[in-house]
Amino acid sequence: MNTLPPTTLCQSLSVRSLFVALSLPLLASTALAAEPLPHWYDATHYRQSTPTIEQVLGYAAGTRISSPEAIYNYFRALVQAHPDQIKMVEYARTWENRPLFYVVISSSENIANLANLEKNMRALADPRSTNSNNAKKIFAKQPASVWIASSVHGNEISPADSSMVTAWHLLANQNNDTKEILDNTIIYLDPLQNPDGRARFVSRYYATIGLVPADDRISAEHNEPWPNGRTNHYLFDMNRDWLTFTQPETQGRIRSLLQTFPLIFVDSHEMGGDSPYYFTPEAHPYNPFITQPQREALHWVGEHNAKHFDQNGIDYYTREIFDAFYPGYGASWPLYHGSIAMTYEVGSSRGHQFRTKDGETLTYADTIQRNFIAYMATIETANTRREELLERFYDYRSNAVAAGNKGDVRSYIFPNTRDLAGHRKLMSVLVEHGIEVEQATSHFTACRTRYEQGAYIVNANQPSHQLIRTLLDKHVPMDADFITEQERLRANNLPDQIYDVTAWSLPLQFNLDMNSCNRTVSVQAETVPAQRIKPGQLDNPAATYGYFAPWGDMNTGRLLTAALREGLLVRSSDLAFTDKSGKSYPAGSLIIPRAGNPDNLTTILTELATSTGAHLQGTDSSWMQAGPNPGSNNVKRMHAPEIAMLWDEPTNVLSAGSTRFIIEREFNYPVTAIRADRMKRADLSRYHVIILPGSGWSGYEQALGESGREHLRQWVQNGGVLLTLGNATRYAVSGSSPLLASRIEPKAQVDDLVPLAQDKGTIIADHEDLQRYVRNPKTSPDWVAGVLLRADVDQEHWLTAGIHTELHSIFTGADMYAPLRITDGRNVVNFSNKEQVLASGYMWQENHEQVAHKPLVMVQPQGRGMVISFTQEPNYRAYMDGMHVLLMNAIFRASAYATPLR
Ligand SMILES: [Zn+2]
Repeated sequence: MNTLPPTTLCQSLSVRSLFVALSLPLLASTALAAEPLPHWYDATHYRQSTPTIEQVLGYAAGTRISSPEAIYNYFRALVQAHPDQIKMVEYARTWENRPLFYVVISSSENIANLANLEKNMRALADPRSTNSNNAKKIFAKQPASVWIASSVHGNEISPADSSMVTAWHLLANQNNDTKEILDNTIIYLDPLQNPDGRARFVSRYYATIGLVPADDRISAEHNEPWPNGRTNHYLFDMNRDWLTFTQPETQGRIRSLLQTFPLIFVDSHEMGGDSPYYFTPEAHPYNPFITQPQREALHWVGEHNAKHFDQNGIDYYTREIFDAFYPGYGASWPLYHGSIAMTYEVGSSRGHQFRTKDGETLTYADTIQRNFIAYMATIETANTRREELLERFYDYRSNAVAAGNKGDVRSYIFPNTRDLAGHRKLMSVLVEHGIEVEQATSHFTACRTRYEQGAYIVNANQPSHQLIRTLLDKHVPMDADFITEQERLRANNLPDQIYDVTAWSLPLQFNLDMNSCNRTVSVQAETVPAQRIKPGQLDNPAATYGYFAPWGDMNTGRLLTAALREGLLVRSSDLAFTDKSGKSYPAGSLIIPRAGNPDNLTTILTELATSTGAHLQGTDSSWMQAGPNPGSNNVKRMHAPEIAMLWDEPTNVLSAGSTRFIIEREFNYPVTAIRADRMKRADLSRYHVIILPGSGWSGYEQALGESGREHLRQWVQNGGVLLTLGNATRYAVSGSSPLLASRIEPKAQVDDLVPLAQDKGTIIADHEDLQRYVRNPKTSPDWVAGVLLRADVDQEHWLTAGIHTELHSIFTGADMYAPLRITDGRNVVNFSNKEQVLASGYMWQENHEQVAHKPLVMVQPQGRGMVISFTQEPNYRAYMDGMHVLLMNAIFRASAYATPLR
């Protein structure tokens, strides 16, 4: 069972005595007394031995928003009561050390045999070792399986309580149809995917509530302070985290799914309380790697849900808003392994009650009951379609292998000649996705290209073929009809229907070279393990002068931060150099001399090479064949900067969170978070780097304003490095005296609008004329949902030391900036020309033209310090790994370049 009690609980108390001891104050909860949940037709025969929520937690289902601890305790109580029918598995811990767990509910026979049943699913998942005869034997007896994952957004509250109600019903109900379901179906409930976010929501909701719970959407209860409960501790939207799973919650979940392969997967969410319920089928566009049989099966689920919703008089909608194109949602990922996966959304009461626009009162209990109906309907579908679902799953995996043996894309090959750390991480991520990766142990030729030992190979003839394609292809096309429709809407002044980014591609996001080949590659190779950092090494430990480490990847990046935190003397060269032995090092490479460092330097660095992945080369001489010697002005001493960042309102939660996460958990370096009112006036002199992450809608003008800008300017003048990320750059270029001498660009091609005449009538000649007349005379370029753009990197600036000539950046929104003049600063990374700028995704044509050659990264020296501006988010979803070293340069190399009084 592998479970531990949550550390946040007092461990000397039993579950029940704890809640008695708390003696709930019952603020407002009595106002919600309703008939007990759940309601399921004529299911009235419930056994007494199954503890109810009221018995365990002291309140009836639906009368209180359960805390993460309460949810855990209730499921523990169910396991104690019926260990033969419910099993609990802890699969990870959150950043705040709360347990993440799922429960498995089924008949006692199935639970006793669970290990074998899950093994059968893994056998069906690999048709290369399970032939169709053996598969048929499994189909005959194997139960269906449903996985219901709840409340990944922590302020989407009801799915977690609905899971408790569903578990109670399945275990307590003694009617024959429930027994039949348990005989034929394994039900996995992952009741709370985001305990940290929920804890934040629940504590603030109950801290705000009064005599009666407010139902008004403008009340304090219904307006959470920054950051709301949607995100986890590091403020990630974990429903976008399934491409590189940066968070422990997602990592643990994927490990569990690859062990169990549920046939049906539901990701249960909440939406605004004015809409009733949403379930499958999804809106267009579908990702082209979702198969036709999967779409059919999604319809089975939707239609059967609809039947129950009609019977219970609950409204719902389908086929609108929530699409199935981006593969990084929770409800998408299992699809690419052959499951039937989907999102449910219930209109949220976001508290005990909510008054809808129609004037109705929606209670928390209502929302719990709606989910319960949807879950039970879905479980019924799994039960009745058991054999078809099993067959489809096996066929999907078989067809995937076959698809990888034909067509133009049968293998992907990564030469792995630069950015070894990025390659290693990406390969590990693929392995964690359930994809097999090999590393060549000698050189080979494929598709007329020669590759050296160490190249990575991903063959496409795997059961996860569709996942491989959607993650590694450089462009996944949207349905042509859908694109035509979006252009039509835009031409008619209507909003487009693009829901999320239209581009992702792991090789582009990691900025790595990759070739695809129309042959399966079979060469001498090793299987790559799931290991994101491969231990590095230190060569020639007895070297008398010191050690060199090549710059340009995160192995050396982690070495730098670790060495600085150890207090070591580290230098970094602005220029490439070739040492006495003839070994070449790129610009930015680190020099760690013995002189000025502790006597046990070799021991320290050997340990750091292992933990960071860095490769250090010992050298007896600082004599260079080419390039600067360590004493040159082109070699800078690195300092350990104190880093601060703007936090809380009005920063964008996701930008602030992913920025802090990358610096703290990828760079392993601490950051101090500071709120706007302090940032504006407090003494900042102890900080060397201040980061303004992207802002929310209100921007920084109101929160920081002119006085904040002057305060920051003084600090920069005295030697500070100010970083603005994404739309925070707007703040740097505005005001009476901007911090950065660029400007945000209006639309280049102004619509030929018909001017509004005040004093005479107008003749409108035709429909096009009418469109010109009614069009919004807006001046900014059209909004882009999210594409990957190519950018060219200045190879001669210290800020881009070690960075490849070409970079890929996310581009969202419509912000484009004028280049800096040479007298003001440098544009060190610029978007490529209009023909090549779009690397992946869909962008409006006139935006291609306008964004070409515009700056992605600018630097403007000021006094003893400087301003560095990224015009797009380098830390977007924390999955743009190709930007990491550039961000390190902007923090650590820039700190070495600034000249505060030390
Ligand atoms: Zn959600």
